[in-house]
Amino acid sequence: LDLKNQDLKKLADLGQGNGGSVEKVEHVPTRTIMAKKIVLIDAKSSVRKQILRELQIMHDCHSEYIISCFGSFLAEPNICICMEYMDKGSFDGIYRKIGAIDINVVCLVAHSVLEGLTYLYDVHRIIHRDIKPSNILLNSEGEIKLCDFGVSGELINSIANTFVGTSVYMSPERIQGAEYTIKSDIWSLGISLIELATGRFPFCDTVSDDDDSDLSDLERDKDLDPNNKTPTHRDSTFGFNKKKKMRRLSKRMDKEATLHDDNLASMSIIELMHQIVRDPSPRLGDQFDEEAEEFVDACLMKDPDERHSPKTLLEYRWMDDARDSTFDVKAWTATF
Ligand code: ATP
Ligand code: MG
Repeated sequence: LDLKNQDLKKLADLGQGNGGSVEKVEHVPTRTIMAKKIVLIDAKSSVRKQILRELQIMHDCHSEYIISCFGSFLAEPNICICMEYMDKGSFDGIYRKIGAIDINVVCLVAHSVLEGLTYLYDVHRIIHRDIKPSNILLNSEGEIKLCDFGVSGELINSIANTFVGTSVYMSPERIQGAEYTIKSDIWSLGISLIELATGRFPFCDTVSDDDDSDLSDLERDKDLDPNNKTPTHRDSTFGFNKKKKMRRLSKRMDKEATLHDDNLASMSIIELMHQIVRDPSPRLGDQFDEEAEEFVDACLMKDPDERHSPKTLLEYRWMDDARDSTFDVKAWTATF
């Protein structure tokens, strides 16, 4: 398929991320609906051509767990990547719309992501590098697929945004500067699963709501309430405001695109990164089945040597549940 920008008719905006934006488009000559990702890159033309060559790998990805790719082309100063359109969008949008995701679906998400990671690694020797709810997509057939995997080292280097690659889903060892391995993707999967199953990003203790109107509090960094005088009261107030701050921070993380504008917010990212490295890993919580808890705990082993690979995790009991699942995801997608 010879894709040209002039053959693509924009139908809607699908979202905006750190590296660019995504549009729903129609390829008019073939009447195919696609998702077009537009990435503004800052690179010489030789590098751009290299990026396009690297993106070729995406064409060669054929797996039911990976978004298929129609092609990519240069539209100066952008690179456009045309991929399979997933009509239910990404799981971050879904849980924001409907709240915590049914654990039966979360189980299938875990299974699809592991199968996707295994395929990318075994067949193409690619590590995903950006596992998070916004890169796990759903369609109304009930299919769950991964997108935005790290095919192109050159592309990652050339995206005109310094915050690319900094993510709140980053593993403790990556924060400490270790090499990226497939184990880092497993950490990010564990964090994502907790976020979907509970409806909120872990590392913050308060249920998130939609009020993010007063982010300015974060900037003023009001940890202590001057009205509280006794030390004990002060301590608990500190805890409360800190939680509130973390909650706002986590909401802000969801809008990572805006972060680079704001030095104070990036100070708070560093604070969160410290927390990820220092504190015990978050857990799913015992309102869920033991199989699910056991699996998530295994994903969130802080030492990457103790953390399992996708293949070993596929042997966990919870993944047997996924393979034996009779949950009707297609019917579920029709409820929202
Ligand atoms: P980041 O840039 O930090 O990775 P992101 O994943 O949210 O964040 P993009 O990859 O630019 O940013 O995607 C923006 C949004 O577009 C996503 O949140 C998702 O909802 C939507 N989207 C991406 N690809 C598709 C697709 N193939 N089909 C449908 N919607 C998509
Ligand atoms: Mg994405």
